[in-house]
Amino acid sequence: MATLITSRGCPFRCSFCVYPQVLTGRRYRFRSIGDVVSEIEYVIENFPEAKSIFFEDDTLTANKKRCVEFAEALIGRQIQIPWQANSRVDLDLETMKRIRAAGCRELCVGFESADQDVLNSMKKGIKLNRMFRFMEDARKAGILIHGCFMVGFPGETRECCERTIDLAIKLNPDTVQFYPVMVYPGTEAYEAYKMRGWLTADDYSQWITPEGLHNCVVRNEILTSEDLVRLCDQGRRRFYLRPRYLLYKLYQIVKTPSEIVRTAKASRVFFKHLLAGSGV
Ligand code: SF4
Repeated sequence: MATLITSRGCPFRCSFCVYPQVLTGRRYRFRSIGDVVSEIEYVIENFPEAKSIFFEDDTLTANKKRCVEFAEALIGRQIQIPWQANSRVDLDLETMKRIRAAGCRELCVGFESADQDVLNSMKKGIKLNRMFRFMEDARKAGILIHGCFMVGFPGETRECCERTIDLAIKLNPDTVQFYPVMVYPGTEAYEAYKMRGWLTADDYSQWITPEGLHNCVVRNEILTSEDLVRLCDQGRRRFYLRPRYLLYKLYQIVKTPSEIVRTAKASRVFFKHLLAGSGV
């Protein structure tokens, strides 16, 4: 997979998100679509081993007009490589259909929490009921979804986190991730956790494992770091070990044999992580 960017910045204000607050800013700036398409052609021509492209824009779909123009340019230049990108749940069906026609295979989306108050307090700017319509539209458009979920926000109880796992199961994206919130220095969330004494590791060398995985470095007023790690593992087990999910994956690899390698690699990482029990 090759990684490219077509834009920088994200106009949204999620309190935990390091990108616009520390790295890329809130003003959404675009590269020229023509240049990006030429770059994709260069990747296809010079790196035949790249089977797909991930557009690591903070939110490729933040400006729908530009997103559709980008899709039309890919279609117009007959670009055939599958690609993935980061999106939000407010994307409409028409845009999804255009980007699907332009090769979009998967969108990575932050659903984050099943609790509307928690979503509001992290300034996510999304409504719970919109998530279900988004999933329905993604299925209609034929786009796979990787759903991101987090635990450990202020006020979250064990039951609240379990409802987030239930939500992931109900939404049923292609793949999911569950993580304790990572509060990077420079973000609003970092300041809030620091002020409340909820950072559990001051030394940054403790923030990742030797393998480069995140360690959980927060707690809240109710749950410890260890509770949050356990809840994430519980979420992974409950989501991925469902008979319905395993049958879906079986069907997917029969229908699309190119998914076999990806699914086999993902399964190996999944079981290794759950058996080793290190990092989050
Ligand atoms: S989480 Fe996504 S939508 Fe929110 S600020 Fe970060 S990049 Fe933007």
